[in-house]
Amino acid sequence: RKETWRNTYKFYAKEIGEASSQRMDLELSLRRAIDNKELVLHYQPVIDLGSHEIIGAEALVRWNHPEFGLLMPDKFIPIADETGFIIEIGKWVLYEACKQAKAWQEIGHESIFIAVNISAIELDQSQLINHVAGVLHTTELNPNRLELEITESVLMQDAEASIRTLHELKQMGVRIAVDDFGTGYSSLSYLRRFPIDIIKIDRSFAKDMGSDSDNSAIVTAIIALAKSLDLTVEAGGVETQAQLDFLHKAGCHHAQGYLFSHPVTADKLFALIEQRKTG
Ligand code: C2E
Repeated sequence: RKETWRNTYKFYAKEIGEASSQRMDLELSLRRAIDNKELVLHYQPVIDLGSHEIIGAEALVRWNHPEFGLLMPDKFIPIADETGFIIEIGKWVLYEACKQAKAWQEIGHESIFIAVNISAIELDQSQLINHVAGVLHTTELNPNRLELEITESVLMQDAEASIRTLHELKQMGVRIAVDDFGTGYSSLSYLRRFPIDIIKIDRSFAKDMGSDSDNSAIVTAIIALAKSLDLTVEAGGVETQAQLDFLHKAGCHHAQGYLFSHPVTADKLFALIEQRKTG
């Protein structure tokens, strides 16, 4: 018995050791990732449920790691958050995404918008406003074609400060979306104090949607309330036709999910935009 315990301990100690040394490797190489051009953006289309066309895209960062291959954000965004390196990554993402949106607009898709995730640390920085203004100026992207996505829980961390920052961003003409809506504990009427334009219903609610479930009732209620407050509603995580039919019936404006497309490269997204327009 003792031996089993000892072996188990050794096993976990090895696992933890490996995990923390991999983490240190990642932390060190993350600092060089931008300069080495290892970060890439993939884009996931946002569909208008009225026209069925692609009206925008969300920029999602990936890391082409020389040793570990293509890393998804859950493998490095938490490390970037803890080390503060998220600020540099966020700056790079915003610039690249706006530049890409401007390029799509220039080749004939003027109304395409781009959505970019903003982390808690970025929202907290006084430089955020200047940086957004600078990127819009350099890329010449119309501010109302940029959507900044901030999670409900991040907004609530320091509600008064968030409200002030969001007002400044709104004054520039940028649109604000509340991401992962429904996962925090705030009500929509409370969120009304924030100058927001869009709410993105968290993808966890997509599960069982359309059947006689709690999730269906919650999604219907969020859509009705959002509409009565004149907000645009977007549903994430749409994977099946049944979920789409349900959202359509409930009057949801926009949707995103694997049913339409996984996040793809900029070139692939462009092909999808063209395809949905003509098809
Ligand atoms: P998010 O903002 O909620 O992004 C949506 C995530 O859901 C993406 O994962 C996307 O691939 C996934 N997804 C989309 N449709 C479906 C679907 O139908 N089913 C399922 N199961 N999943 C779907 P991804 O790319 O791994 O990103 C994860 C998270 O990493 C993002 O969640 C966001 O919080 C964060 N993230 C990604 N890029 C950035 C960035 O540039 N900056 C910051 N601060 N965070 C980022």
